[in-house]
Amino acid sequence: MNHLFPLPQGGELLLRRYPRSAQHGLQAWEAADEYLLSELTEHHWDTEAPVLILNDAFGVLTLALQQYQPTSINDSRISELALIANAHDNQITLSGSSLTSLDEWTGPTPGLVLMKLPRTNALLEYQLAYLSQIMGPHTVFIAAAKAKDIHSSTLKFFERYIGETKTSLAKKKARLIFSYCNTSKVTSQLPTPLVWPLEGTDFNIYNYANVFSRANLDIGARFMLENLPRHHAGHIIDLGCGNGVLGLMAMVNNPDARLTFVDESYMSIASAELTVKKNLPTEVARAHFLVNNCLDDVSVNSAKLILCNPPFHQQQAITDHIAWQMFVDAKRVLSPGGELWVVANRHLNYHIKLKRLFGNQTVVASNHKFVILKAIKTS
Ligand code: SAM
Repeated sequence: MNHLFPLPQGGELLLRRYPRSAQHGLQAWEAADEYLLSELTEHHWDTEAPVLILNDAFGVLTLALQQYQPTSINDSRISELALIANAHDNQITLSGSSLTSLDEWTGPTPGLVLMKLPRTNALLEYQLAYLSQIMGPHTVFIAAAKAKDIHSSTLKFFERYIGETKTSLAKKKARLIFSYCNTSKVTSQLPTPLVWPLEGTDFNIYNYANVFSRANLDIGARFMLENLPRHHAGHIIDLGCGNGVLGLMAMVNNPDARLTFVDESYMSIASAELTVKKNLPTEVARAHFLVNNCLDDVSVNSAKLILCNPPFHQQQAITDHIAWQMFVDAKRVLSPGGELWVVANRHLNYHIKLKRLFGNQTVVASNHKFVILKAIKTS
């Protein structure tokens, strides 16, 4: 696998995905990044004005454009860590700054905005509304993606929030989107979290734009809720919490426990926090919210119970390396006798992984599609 990215201005960057260990087979950039960077040589923008880069998954754009001190805006802790690690490998001291997808932009009007198309229309809509508030008529705005991910509905979002929009020819199956800022389109309000009632309860679940299964309860999560453990005291972790639905109900079922909600997405953690604050306002003191890559830096032997509905992709790639990392971290963080509960599609065969790692696993419940597995830390 080639890890050397050729810079359009000459030279190359050594780039790897994050986390490093499990992803030797996947490249840390795509044709759309190359297209975007080569296109820039033909554009003129006010180089004194800020440069913003949105959704740069592993840092290629931010590192290639260091001379402009770009601000990288991301919803992902993994992308932030990838940028730091790749900067380190190339002996680059990062000159710009990082913002999360929920941070306000307080700088002057940007001269150049580059966007890698996010995976969901909900996040695209949120980010275009955000950009419409901060771009000016002279801001150059170029988005990039695989051609197959750019639909007429995608372009309609650009037209609705930004202004006239056109696309480039495809190159290596990638395409660029040029959108020209029409200041009469400025959106006064960013899209608010989607709220839906949790069936069988009086609770409402809050979902910012980039949350997994944001429009309704995930079927795996539903199955876990039907089988959620009760009456545990001590520390419980909702690992990969999304909107926080599992952790919320774990707080209800385990009134003597304190909960930590962990996710690598800033919007997920903001959603989980809102979900708990709105539904259990008097219990917030026993909930803690952490944006983190799996359980990095969480203390050994510090949890009694970990609940996990693991992710099965990173960016566009279907992968189980994050699930594996979550299980490995869970084993380290559980105290002896502590339990990891995992809900997953049956065909993923996670029982083999858990048995290998913990030396034991039992099936708590199963149906035609899902299985809930429990592994106990024995030492
Ligand atoms: N618990 C929620 C539910 O059941 O609806 C969400 C489950 S979703 C299948 C998996 C979650 O893991 C997503 O919210 C995703 O953002 C999060 N995630 C992915 N990679 C992660 C990582 N490296 N560290 C922490 N969370 C991660």
